[in-house]
Amino acid sequence: MSKIWIDGKFIDSSKAKVSVFDHGLLYGDGCFEGIRIYNGRILKLRSHIVRMFESAASIRLQPGHSIDEMEEIVRETVAINEQKDGYIRLVFTRGKGTLGLNPFLCPTATVIVIVESIKLYPNEMYEDGMSIIVANRPRVPKECLDPQVKSLNYLNNILAKIEAIDAGVLEALMLNLDGEVAECTGDNIFIIKDGTISTPPTSAGILNGITRQLVIEDIAPDLGYTVQERKLDLEEVLDADEVFLTGTAAEVIGVSHIGEKSVGCGKVGPITHALEDKFRKMVSENAPED
Ligand code: PMP
Repeated sequence: MSKIWIDGKFIDSSKAKVSVFDHGLLYGDGCFEGIRIYNGRILKLRSHIVRMFESAASIRLQPGHSIDEMEEIVRETVAINEQKDGYIRLVFTRGKGTLGLNPFLCPTATVIVIVESIKLYPNEMYEDGMSIIVANRPRVPKECLDPQVKSLNYLNNILAKIEAIDAGVLEALMLNLDGEVAECTGDNIFIIKDGTISTPPTSAGILNGITRQLVIEDIAPDLGYTVQERKLDLEEVLDADEVFLTGTAAEVIGVSHIGEKSVGCGKVGPITHALEDKFRKMVSENAPED
């Protein structure tokens, strides 16, 4: 049984609970991070914690710990669970309050660190590629709730994920209100055309994925590619030679079909395979923790 860190105490996972008056539960008022542990190292721990604090600041939530303290708490939770490979879920909720909306009537944030093992997409998908659909539901516009805030309000993504599951696939591509390509429900998207890799800019209204940044800054350049961050329309994605997704849980995964249409020749392309391999090599040998 794993031990959950919750508000300063380690609690057995079967006994860890939050109040029914917690605004995280009542209103989705809070934020979270998903982080991976590879071979005893915590991939991009610092970047995840910094993003968590940015999410918290943008909803005016104060977790009551500094960035350094939070890093220490996460490391301690990983150590006590003796988890060498796995997944960390970090959650800040607004905490216990009244039934009213006022977040400032919640005196103390609830802070939770969960360490678990992880189930990735099935192995064959990394070899053969995954099928996705284009969701009918647009991504929530940044003027309403900026997708750069990794908030506990994931209903926009969940409703698009339901569209995917109804269509018999596991991921859905979401467009923004201007019809530009944004991101998938839990992953960022990249395309490759004539040897050039492109991905939507954060201004399209997306989460600036840590894996996305790793591909742009390290993995693609290590293989001799520069990634262009630019507006993409759906036609370009459907016409790409290769399409791949990135995310903490997904890592780097090729897309073989979008709806009825095959991507390239309907298999994972060579550049995507090279990026997948480079990512796996990096995390298994020496995952950067910065
Ligand atoms: N977009 C969304 C909406 C996500 O929830 C995630 C994380 N699952 C991503 C993109 C990928 O981000 P990261 O690489 O930081 O996990």
